[in-house]
Amino acid sequence: MALTGIQIFKLLPKTNCKECGVPTCLAFAMNLASGKAELDSCPYVSDEAREQLAEASAPPIRPVALGKGVRAAKTGGETVLYRHEKTFFNPTLLAGAIDAAMGEDELKAKLTVWNAFQYERVGLNLRPELVALKDTTGDAAQFGAAAKTIAETSEFNLVLITDNEDVMKAGIAASAFKRPLMYCATEANADAYGALAKDNDLPLAVKADSVEALVPLTEKLTGMGLKDLVIDSGARELKQSLEDQVAIRRAALKGGNKALGFPTITFPSEMAGNGDMEALAAAMFIAKYGGITVLSDFSPESVFPLLLERLNIFTDPQRPMTVTEGIFEINNPDENSPVMVTTNFALTYFIVSGEIEGSKQPCWLLIKDAEGLSVLTAWAAGKFSGDDVGIFVKKSGIMDKVKHTELIIPGYAAAIAGDVEEELPGWTITVGPREAAHIPGFLKGRG
Ligand code: SF4
Repeated sequence: MALTGIQIFKLLPKTNCKECGVPTCLAFAMNLASGKAELDSCPYVSDEAREQLAEASAPPIRPVALGKGVRAAKTGGETVLYRHEKTFFNPTLLAGAIDAAMGEDELKAKLTVWNAFQYERVGLNLRPELVALKDTTGDAAQFGAAAKTIAETSEFNLVLITDNEDVMKAGIAASAFKRPLMYCATEANADAYGALAKDNDLPLAVKADSVEALVPLTEKLTGMGLKDLVIDSGARELKQSLEDQVAIRRAALKGGNKALGFPTITFPSEMAGNGDMEALAAAMFIAKYGGITVLSDFSPESVFPLLLERLNIFTDPQRPMTVTEGIFEINNPDENSPVMVTTNFALTYFIVSGEIEGSKQPCWLLIKDAEGLSVLTAWAAGKFSGDDVGIFVKKSGIMDKVKHTELIIPGYAAAIAGDVEEELPGWTITVGPREAAHIPGFLKGRG
């Protein structure tokens, strides 16, 4: 249960030394309670108080770290039922299933194809994280060899799927250095799989045949000292599985049920008869509330939209996405190339830069910090005024790169043209198109 500001205050040193950046311990306690401060900002909290505060401020759904390397990720750590209440933190991880019986050449070829599913958006690299390696033959050597190939020759991290302890041991021996998720402990093997996970310090998935039946299992495993659990309610029917996701999230957040305070794993790969339905099921679990979702395969037509959906769901709704203020060179501009200016709202940048790029016309694009607002909103809010734009152009360094004196401003900010001119004497201010889609025609029309 979260502590109030006053309860936190009682655990602080009360010296008001200000080292945490606020004037009093009470102010710091209030910030801590509202999630605006980190406990580490106060160097004087006693170990005992730190333990109590860490316990009380831990998210109701435990964050679980999976994998190593560039595709390492966390799942869980969520604190709200609805994204608009705050934000969702750790994106649903996407896993593609591979049968361990697949030959090595075929496996390597598949990993190469999957590795290419990477997409740049708003300055981020969007890509799936996991391979769900499935044991279908009970052959430990075969499973270990496939795990080794995936762990050593690809960036992907692993979910090791087998109910055979010897097979699991072979998979762990080959890939423990990449911190794979073991799938899964059940009522039948909880002791053995719990011990394996503990000995190897690995996250462990737990499966039961209902949400209620998960509770004694996770209690048993946490009693053994395991913390990093991922839970599976066992449902393989869409409606029931969705209901289980919601029930688990509600129980952890609203009911304070610690036995269900773990991220979930879902299996669209076992719920749908074709790839389209599978992708739709995965889309549902990204929205509500899958921690990991396993697909039977990755294809560009399913992975790309799922990654974009995930990006949208797991961005902070209270903070606009931005790009860095500065000069961007598009299509190798030279000293005669046109200079355009717009705001640093990420969507604006990517649409405008995309249109310029597509036009094949060399161009300098100046991005001005407007607190992540689009052109019209920024202008209306006074964040893209003529004076500001003029001063920014002078400071940007563009004058050292071009030998002409023409600036193209967005059509939606036509009203600032006069003020920009005043700030940039001798410059010609040209009003560009309102819509980014008209930029290619506008640039080509200039000859
Ligand atoms: Fe109080 Fe710690 Fe902040 Fe100092 S650093 S004012 S002791 S909370």
